[in-house]
Amino acid sequence: MSTTVIIWTLTAVIAGAIGAMVGQRRGRQYAGFWWGFLLGPLGWLIVALGPDLSASNCVHCGAKRYQIRLCTQCGKDAWTLG
Ligand SMILES: [Zn+2]
Repeated sequence: MSTTVIIWTLTAVIAGAIGAMVGQRRGRQYAGFWWGFLLGPLGWLIVALGPDLSASNCVHCGAKRYQIRLCTQCGKDAWTLG
């Protein structure tokens, strides 16, 4: 492995780690990592402006949900009505 490849890999991993920190505040640390890993600063921006999944309310019963699609309280799809 050449030095250039190592430097690029390290840079991508660091950018991914920063993306994960940005994403963590919005409940998307894994998505944040990959956005940062693949796109660098542009990925951080995408995560920072993306949907906040950390503490949204269920549209049916208002219960808090965390990164889960089905509401734990009423069992319905917490993102869409109907
Ligand atoms: Zn619910």
